[in-house]
Amino acid sequence: MKAAIHVKSLGGFERGFSVIVCRACKDPPCAKACPTDALIPRKGGGVIFYANKCIGCRACVDACPIGAVFWDDSVNKPIICVYCGYCVDFCPHGVIALKEVE
Ligand code: SF4
Ligand code: SF4
Ligand code: SF4
Repeated sequence: MKAAIHVKSLGGFERGFSVIVCRACKDPPCAKACPTDALIPRKGGGVIFYANKCIGCRACVDACPIGAVFWDDSVNKPIICVYCGYCVDFCPHGVIALKEVE
């Protein structure tokens, strides 16, 4: 599935679910791991992805501490959250929030 957000079952309905989505790190390990500067730290946290620079090495996938870099097999590149906040409006329980941090 091509999405920058995934919901993982914690093992049964009683245990619940965990939402895996980019936490917009202040000092993003994914950007540090990228050998081609295809991921550049973004003002306010997280990263901006420059697909034209990406060589598909998957270093960012391994570097993200929460596993929030997903993979698009069709183009062999990562799927990076663009912090659009679209997902926030779709969650009826207000589990997700998008906050700009200066
Ligand atoms: S993808 Fe992972 S490492 Fe990169 S900014 Fe988001 S949470 Fe941090
Ligand atoms: S897959 Fe692309 S964005 Fe990720 S570390 Fe490698 S070159 Fe950088
Ligand atoms: S903020 Fe936008 S790009 Fe990021 S997970 Fe939500 S809908 Fe997807």
